[in-house]
Amino acid sequence: MKSSFRLFRIAGIDIGVHYTWIFIFVFISWSLAQGFFPQAYAGWDTLTYWITGIIAALMLFVSVLLHELAHSLVAKRRGIPVASITLFFFGGVSNLEEEPKKPMAEFTMAIVGPGTSLVLALVFWLLYLIPADKTGPLAAMLSYLALINLILAVFNLLPGFPLDGGRVLRSIIWGATGNLVKATNIAGRIGQLLGWALIGVGIYFIFFVSIVSGLWMAFIGWFLSGAASASRREVTVRESLSGIRVRDFVDLNTTTISPETTVAEMVDNIFRRQHGRAVPVCRDGRLLGIVTITDVRGLPQEKWPTTPVADIMTRQPLYTASPQDDLNTVMKLLAQHDINQVPIQQDGQCVGLLSRADIIRHIQFREELGVKKP
Ligand SMILES: [Zn+2]
Repeated sequence: MKSSFRLFRIAGIDIGVHYTWIFIFVFISWSLAQGFFPQAYAGWDTLTYWITGIIAALMLFVSVLLHELAHSLVAKRRGIPVASITLFFFGGVSNLEEEPKKPMAEFTMAIVGPGTSLVLALVFWLLYLIPADKTGPLAAMLSYLALINLILAVFNLLPGFPLDGGRVLRSIIWGATGNLVKATNIAGRIGQLLGWALIGVGIYFIFFVSIVSGLWMAFIGWFLSGAASASRREVTVRESLSGIRVRDFVDLNTTTISPETTVAEMVDNIFRRQHGRAVPVCRDGRLLGIVTITDVRGLPQEKWPTTPVADIMTRQPLYTASPQDDLNTVMKLLAQHDINQVPIQQDGQCVGLLSRADIIRHIQFREELGVKKP
């Protein structure tokens, strides 16, 4: 969870808040205390507006959290590990460690979020019926929460991927056709269109209605269309890599170096002549570590001729892949640990190196040639 901090833990899931949420929280409290409540309910004192605004913003936070928690709990029950939930500027993101494997699992996981928001809307509306004074802070806050949860449910049900409604649509097409790439492309295309439409309406709002709501809409639209096209690309890549094993892909006799090699020799041979950016360090075929450009950068150049790579290499335990691994598994490993390459190891022996750049080059090369599998 980068640029976010952990608040607490529910059912084994870390609940975190993205830093942007603090600004959003202040902004929502302020716009409720200074805009929404004073316009709808005149005659309270300033402090009452602020207290009502802050509590309403907190309850909005709880509502979004419950929506995300519903997604995550269903995912966990379906056997998909959920590492954390991060609350973002306009909602939350459940960090699932993998995608659902069956259309029905995705359908249930997606629909339960808006379902929770709808139930919350109903609960807040029923609570709103209780107080006799419908112009007081309590009734005002409850009716706001009923409305905002209804909006959350409806917005998330829009059928563009990666919104919940888009996931529902994808799962239906996926179930009907058995083709995940096609389903993602259709739902993702609708997501892109929705995003552009939101940007358009936002720009109209900026000029003719309200700058703040217009900026909001345009921003959400921009985010949605970006996320939709990223998802389309990602699924296409994932599909094109599935079934390819590491051993079919890399030369398993990649150069390795011994720990006594000096940094100067390594830079000259590996970086300069072979255009490598990293090399496994091995002795008698056993993997000891890996040296990358980043490791070398920390060492002043005058020390390169006298320093053995053993002094600067990243040592075991390292993340490694085996020749039998699927390329998707390797991509996931690279992404999860934010690394650019992994040494390939078989039975504890050094056999090669696979980098993110190799995989990307391979995808580009296939796209240019128009070939399906290598
Ligand atoms: Zn959702």
